[in-house]
Amino acid sequence: MKKILHDRFGRKIEYLRLSVTDRCDMKCDYCRIDSFKDYSEKESWLNFDEIERIVRAFVELGVGHVRLTGGEPLLRKNIDHLAQRLSSIDQLTDLSLSTNCSRIESMADRLYRSGVQRLNVSLDTLNPDTFYQITKSDLSSVLTGLQAAKKVGFDPIRINTVVMRGVNDTEIEQILDYCSENSFTLRLIETMPMGQAGQDSTRRYIDLQEIKKSLQKKYNLIPIVLPGGGPARYYHIADSDIKIGFITPLSQHFCDTCNRIRLTVDGILHTCLGQEHEYPLRDIIRHGVSDKELKQHIMQAIALKPEKHEFKENPTISVRSMTRTGG
Ligand code: SAM
Repeated sequence: MKKILHDRFGRKIEYLRLSVTDRCDMKCDYCRIDSFKDYSEKESWLNFDEIERIVRAFVELGVGHVRLTGGEPLLRKNIDHLAQRLSSIDQLTDLSLSTNCSRIESMADRLYRSGVQRLNVSLDTLNPDTFYQITKSDLSSVLTGLQAAKKVGFDPIRINTVVMRGVNDTEIEQILDYCSENSFTLRLIETMPMGQAGQDSTRRYIDLQEIKKSLQKKYNLIPIVLPGGGPARYYHIADSDIKIGFITPLSQHFCDTCNRIRLTVDGILHTCLGQEHEYPLRDIIRHGVSDKELKQHIMQAIALKPEKHEFKENPTISVRSMTRTGG
């Protein structure tokens, strides 16, 4: 019988976001400040054996979905080998990847064959200058990467766009058209006050209810539920194939249905994106615990999962940056 992992608020925990590096080849200004130095030592990173062991323990406890993330996960050497190992774990029903897509072109085929089924891709703008302004990187490699990913068959491909006032808020319809032309699903995200960079971005925060209202003037948005949709509230645009999701951690938080936990590259388990709670799984496995004891530790950590983040009530609490936690 399939196990179910519950926290003390009765939420089913079934989704692990696994960071495989905290390094990134982009410097998104809402994610990481220029002088960011809070990287982990590479010696402290979990190796593939350790990752597989921890993932197996989670899966045996009832987690069915693992997402590889970072930093930029495609910077981790032999990431396709790791994906292959994880995708062959029985009862892991869904292995997905979050990437900026800048490096996927040369490895899209290998990754696809290793068992990664779905992609979420960050893309905040289609304007090369604005893209450079946000990321200090080049847009063309991302667009080429997206076409390569589409060609090998990743499906669905979801585009994650962080909406920022005065930066890309007037571009949403254009990004929606691009997604529609390519059969990608667009998901708009509110900026979160995570780390110094996220804190600095609160001045550009937009309540996505505002964007939704303005889209509703042009489109008939019909609410839908998508499998594996995560925290997004989805809409289908009437008389089209277009789907759009809104991820609103501030204006309409979704903590009461939160089913996820995050493991950093150095093996720290975070049970809430917006709180400092942590549980050091790496130290535990390196001290030689049995698999049974490891699962007991995981259950202990889940029991401490906070009820909610406080991004809105208490936006000046600056938790870790996304690149450190695993976005
Ligand atoms: N490199 C991968 C990518 O680009 O998807 C995975 C890691 S990235 C940190 C994951 C997601 O976090 C991206 O969609 C990024 O836009 C988002 N993100 C980072 N900092 C954020 C913030 N302060 N507020 C909202 N989203 C943020």
